[in-house]
Amino acid sequence: MHTNNFGSNKEFVVSPLATVDELETTHCKDYIQRFLNGQQSEKEQRNVGFPWSREGVDRALSSVGGTLAAACSVCDELERRNIESSSSSGLEMPPWAAHVAGGTHHAFYDYGEGFSVFSDIAVAANVVLQRYPALIKRILIVDLDVHQGNGNAVLFQDRSEVTTVSFQCEGNYFSEKQKSDLDVELPIGCNDATYLMTLHHWLKRIEKLAGPDFYDLIFYQAGVDILEDDRLGRMNISAKGVQRRNELVYDFARRLGIPLVIVWEVDTHGMQMIGVPLSTHTLRSTSRPTSIFAGQPKTPEVLHIE
Ligand SMILES: [Zn+2]
Repeated sequence: MHTNNFGSNKEFVVSPLATVDELETTHCKDYIQRFLNGQQSEKEQRNVGFPWSREGVDRALSSVGGTLAAACSVCDELERRNIESSSSSGLEMPPWAAHVAGGTHHAFYDYGEGFSVFSDIAVAANVVLQRYPALIKRILIVDLDVHQGNGNAVLFQDRSEVTTVSFQCEGNYFSEKQKSDLDVELPIGCNDATYLMTLHHWLKRIEKLAGPDFYDLIFYQAGVDILEDDRLGRMNISAKGVQRRNELVYDFARRLGIPLVIVWEVDTHGMQMIGVPLSTHTLRSTSRPTSIFAGQPKTPEVLHIE
């Protein structure tokens, strides 16, 4: 694994590719093999939104691999802190890591749509539940992309270890609406005040119901297509509003002391997004990350985060 240092407290790491075993925790064997070998039908490719290519396979595998690596780095750090807990102050920020090319939340067990071949969050969640059984027993997914996390909603429908929370624009479903554990619909043209008030309300409710020891890990799908200038988003949230949104989630994690894995789907919403202050803010406002994973193999230099 190559490592690049971008500044003193952020370590960028090129995402590893997910393995077939890791994908099989979540997706159908036959579906995985057909995708890896370029045997998908035209209709399947159309649903995903891009034609099959060798690069596309690497892209899909690194997207899952990056989120999984971020999750594992958080769990490893958690393990380390548990071992050294006698010297910890108890006020330490929970470990966190970010992946800038994840968030493919429209992938199902045996099909994909909306630029999502595999669900990076679902695979990462399933793998860490298996790999860190003593540490990770219950996971919360907070999906604040403008679209519903429909794939994850279905993948975890009957799984009590994983709670899915999805905020979405009521007029902007990718395909059929699915049922998350908590779905919150926001109106078309939703502004900062409405959005932030609603998010604050629901995070407080979750905090009250769950308490500090219920969840062991949070995956935060921090999609930025709620922005007012997103072509397809249909919401009206300012850049400041998105920063505030992120802060609400980070404060929530901090108050409850729950480790956090942050993912964006940078590719589907334009690489330029990574250059705006949102990402810089995301990195700065929660203190020192464990690591930040770049999703594209060999191209971490395209990230303009300072
Ligand atoms: Zn989206």
